[in-house]
Amino acid sequence: MSDVLTITLNNNVQIPQLGFGVFQVAPQDAERVVSTALETGYRSIDTAAAYQNEEGVGRAVASCGLAREDVFVTTKLWNSDHGYDQALRAFDASAGRLGLDTVDLYLIHWPVPTADRYVETWKALEKLAADGRVRAIGVSNFTVEHLRRLFAETGTVPAVNQVELHPHFQQTELRAEHTEHGIATEAWSPLGQGAALSDATITRLAKRHGVTPAQVVLRWHLQVGNIVIPKSVTPARIQENFDVVTFDLSAEDLTAIADLETGRRIGPDPATFDMR
Ligand code: NAD
Repeated sequence: MSDVLTITLNNNVQIPQLGFGVFQVAPQDAERVVSTALETGYRSIDTAAAYQNEEGVGRAVASCGLAREDVFVTTKLWNSDHGYDQALRAFDASAGRLGLDTVDLYLIHWPVPTADRYVETWKALEKLAADGRVRAIGVSNFTVEHLRRLFAETGTVPAVNQVELHPHFQQTELRAEHTEHGIATEAWSPLGQGAALSDATITRLAKRHGVTPAQVVLRWHLQVGNIVIPKSVTPARIQENFDVVTFDLSAEDLTAIADLETGRRIGPDPATFDMR
């Protein structure tokens, strides 16, 4: 069995700290790729309605031979489904495609502030949690400003905020806000979509520890307390990304990585992103 630690969310639900992401995994590949990840030992899968591969994820979970409670499944509400009633319907559709009665974590994928409906959407997620359809609710791509609006206008603090986070974009201010309010930080594009792996500091640390650059970056995420969901469709890399518990980065190594911040995102800016 795996040595992956779990993080206890603010409603006492536990999530594996290292999971597997399936953004840009083609629908016809999802079942096979997720099955490989589950065989490797991953126990948390991150999908979304927008990834169009929830059916394949669901089939892999159903056929893996593990008890349902041993696999943590996250999915997300897409930008065209904001609003109270739409959100409830979107959840039913996702749960149907996954073939699950209960989803472990349901996230608002983007705040879409130009539509100004994320507070209503959040209230629908609160209902899903109260009804036992989801074990935990959270958000994704929320900035400090969006989070503070939820704190002011609703009754539940998100369990998770899943945001772009890698050595070149470390989200220091947002992470401090999360810590203050008991929100777990989940890192998307944790490897910088591969770009962090050719960084000179990362490759130097990889040589020093006798591991790969991806392992250094993932180990860094785990040591700073992030939940992390690397993606690969290549079995050897799926395994490599899971083998990150056998070494420790020193305080000096962590400082060297802290210095890699560039302030530049790879992905869209949540303040303006409104693709539907
Ligand atoms: P990532 O940082 O995990 O990088 C994935 C890419 O890095 C792979 O396609 C591959 O090219 C490369 N790679 C992976 N393992 C490697 C290894 N061991 N050695 C060398 N190269 C390797 O990027 P991602 O897929 O964008 O992010 C991970 C997950 O985060 C996604 O699958 C998805 O679940 C989630 N995500 C969420 C959002 C959001 O808006 N909430 C946005 C993007 C991604």
